[in-house]
Amino acid sequence: MVYDLALLGGTAVSGGKVFLCDIFISAGKIAAISKPSSKKKTQAKKTIDLSGKLVLPGIIDSHTHFHLKLGKNYSSDDFDNGSAAAACGGITAYIDYTGQPGGTDLVKGLEDRLSSADGKSYIDYSFHSQITGFNGLKNPEKQMKAAFKAGMTTFKMFTAYAKRGLMSRDDEFFRALEIARDIGALICVHCENGYLCDMLTDRYAPSGGIGALPMSRPAFTEIESVGRVAQIAAAVKAPVYFVHLSAAGSAASVQAAREIGVKAMAETCPHYLCLSDKMYAEDDAWLYSCCPPFRGKENNMPLWHGLDSGSIQSIASDSCSITRKMKSGWGNDIRNMPMGIPGSQTLMPAVYTYGVKQGKITIERMVECFCENPARIMGLKNKGFIKKGYDADFAIIDPFKSVKVDSGKLMHNADYSVWQGKTFYGFPDYTILRGKILVENGKFIAKKPSGKYIKRSAPEII
Ligand SMILES: [Zn+2]
Repeated sequence: MVYDLALLGGTAVSGGKVFLCDIFISAGKIAAISKPSSKKKTQAKKTIDLSGKLVLPGIIDSHTHFHLKLGKNYSSDDFDNGSAAAACGGITAYIDYTGQPGGTDLVKGLEDRLSSADGKSYIDYSFHSQITGFNGLKNPEKQMKAAFKAGMTTFKMFTAYAKRGLMSRDDEFFRALEIARDIGALICVHCENGYLCDMLTDRYAPSGGIGALPMSRPAFTEIESVGRVAQIAAAVKAPVYFVHLSAAGSAASVQAAREIGVKAMAETCPHYLCLSDKMYAEDDAWLYSCCPPFRGKENNMPLWHGLDSGSIQSIASDSCSITRKMKSGWGNDIRNMPMGIPGSQTLMPAVYTYGVKQGKITIERMVECFCENPARIMGLKNKGFIKKGYDADFAIIDPFKSVKVDSGKLMHNADYSVWQGKTFYGFPDYTILRGKILVENGKFIAKKPSGKYIKRSAPEII
């Protein structure tokens, strides 16, 4: 048999193991994995020598925002350049969100996003169904079942942003969690106490400056909200997944919930693991506006520990590019600031550099948190592992090659980076999607988008 592609002599990381192997690809799938052969001759249309390189399953970013509607504007990465940026960071699949107005049919929300993304994405993609105005949905149970059938097996809800109409009430969480439990779906929650954040924002914003951001959304507003939603999930006996945890106390809450049998899971992001609110004193600090904000440095290590010990299962980017120009109209008042930072392309390199290289987590654990767990939790069948029959998705890195981050060279449509000037390891030499090479020798070479919409299966609770 002549394979389409042979990846020879690399060091693969998958399923908690690190092993030298040759990987053979046929029709977009992993057709065979064998011990490295001493024979140079291989039966493949193309072969790549990967000796000395680490071969990871393609990274799955389960939290991103491309072409997100923000008032009259959109976030500045569209599905084309955003997915290209992601590919240049080793990502081969991402899950974005629907954004239909409250009360709108959930499947209609998916159709709208599919029509925006159609034919644009360079890597595979799916959507979480965002639920706002739960009580305004006609027959929410029927709608959630229909969304599940359409491949949106996870639902996103908020305890924050009352003024923007995104916040759900506790009784709505209770009902949504009951339905999710009954149909085998998963509720993902953005936790910040919305009423407190709004009140504190009005208190601190008028004094001006970006320093008002961390003061208006302090860590306890997240910790309280995580604890509250975990209690509701416990009462309902439903699984729950907390997005972008930023505070040590939140990780502790999730761990405590898991210890008493609550099916609580969580994700965090590189900026909460590695950066701190000290950056809000820098000249460009206004560009680093995102919610939740960067926290005190004392939160970094407990979040790494949460990943290492298993209380946090996943790492995602929460990438939401907003250009300097779009942010510049804020008039020194955070209430006018569009919140979000670019993060797809730097997602894995940041964690590889600060986590694996510095010994905070192992490479096996990084692969679990970036590939295996997101695939299992989010119901992405045939992805996340280097296994025969699985999609031939790979991020291939040279463990000794470093690059200085320069926002001007990233593919994001943003003219800044919170990582500007940092020395990063882990930018991929190759990114491969279903056997197709998107990034070769560190250069994006894909000519046209070939990402597919993924209809997801039921989440696995881990
Ligand atoms: Zn987000």
